Amino acid sequence: MNNYSQYLPLLKISLQKLDNWRDGYGADHQTDFIEHLEKSSIQSVLDELAEKLQGNYPFHHPQYAGQMLKPPHPVAWLAYSLAMTINPNNHALDGGPPTSEMEKEVVNLIAAMAGYENNYLGHLTSGGTIANLEALFIAREIHPDKSIAATANAHYTHKRMCRILNCNFLEIPVDQHGIPDLSFIETHAEEIGTLVVTLGTTGLGIIEPLDELMNLSHKYGFRVHADAAYGGFFKLIENELPSEKHWKKLSECDSVVIDPHKHGLQPYGCGAILFKDASVGKYYKHDSPYTYFTSDDLHLGEISIECSRAGAAAAALWATLQMLPLTSNGLGEILRKTRSAAVTFAGLLQNRPDWQLYNTPELDITGYFKVPESGTISELNKQSKHIFSAGMKNRDTGFHLSLFKVKAEDFVKKFPDYRADVPEAVLLRSVFMKEEHEGFVEELTDRIFSA
Ligand SMILES: *Cc1c(COP(=O)(O)O)cnc(C)c1O
Repeated sequence: MNNYSQYLPLLKISLQKLDNWRDGYGADHQTDFIEHLEKSSIQSVLDELAEKLQGNYPFHHPQYAGQMLKPPHPVAWLAYSLAMTINPNNHALDGGPPTSEMEKEVVNLIAAMAGYENNYLGHLTSGGTIANLEALFIAREIHPDKSIAATANAHYTHKRMCRILNCNFLEIPVDQHGIPDLSFIETHAEEIGTLVVTLGTTGLGIIEPLDELMNLSHKYGFRVHADAAYGGFFKLIENELPSEKHWKKLSECDSVVIDPHKHGLQPYGCGAILFKDASVGKYYKHDSPYTYFTSDDLHLGEISIECSRAGAAAAALWATLQMLPLTSNGLGEILRKTRSAAVTFAGLLQNRPDWQLYNTPELDITGYFKVPESGTISELNKQSKHIFSAGMKNRDTGFHLSLFKVKAEDFVKKFPDYRADVPEAVLLRSVFMKEEHEGFVEELTDRIFSA
């Protein structure tokens, strides 16, 4: 997948088609940008850019298992590039009729994956944060006098968004395994309007126990929002996951966020929000004098917080899903490989007395550390930081991980033999989110073990 230039001939053929379409409106009014520029100067600008871009870490390579980053599927790139020469805007049907149709089509597929039936409402967003903001906005509109609750492991933006929405945020404590304190929720149930449940925490990919939390929702009547920005597409292989029973409850959630730009192979600028009950559309109501109405159909701009959004993002996702449908054997096959890489990695680590796994991977993320001889957290931290930096020294034999902090008090609950001589434990963390990780994980482990 790394060699993008090999796909250019395909793009050229399709671009030619669009050029002909443009010419069909008459060639005489077109500005030829190139006419005013030396081709050689464009080349030199692009070369300088290519030079600068090499300052990135190798996100494309399986030696990179640091943060949630990977290049898009080549088809997503081609489709995005093609569509953006027109630059349609999906804020309204008239801003780009074909890409708006594609958006409805792909959102329908994501909704079907989540288990939502006909009466849902949903659209793409520029990302997971905005998608969550829409969910929390509706949460506040429905229960203006109640709190929005989420665990300490929820994405940090939920708390901040509650400040934006001027809505009280209630943090639910979790134990050392990331399990929310259910009795705390019961004690505060009257106060909670909407509970945010994260399916795949950003830190360690933990699946919060939606099954039990949904039972509490039925008992006490609060709403449930599923933040599956990272984990959502794992729904495709739910039967193979230890968290299967929680995924089965996804369709009961009042709203769901899934990011195609996380595990859907899309370039950044593609999140998705779905509401189980389409009647929440009334809270978005506006009547802008600017929006031009030439059809009576629902305008995407009427059911979203954002106005302008890239039609090209919908085109890219649409094209990708033609190649990789939302099935266990389509996109699911890629997720199966990423998870398999994490499980293999965890197994290799467990065979070593000098390494310790912090969490068994539920998805494709693991936390771990090298066992410190002194049994102190301070030494453990020093080792983690050393290994983290050592990996980045050599291009061809190196590796990229990330560091992950946990409270020392939680750490010693899991590992009581350790001495908490500092307030935080710094773990190593690997995100195996590329399918290429599956074939590279032994090599990667060797490199890490010998660092
Ligand atoms: C990444 C992530 C977000 C934020 O989404 P962006 O697309 O980065 O804005 C929210 N929640 C979870 C669980 C995430 O992993």
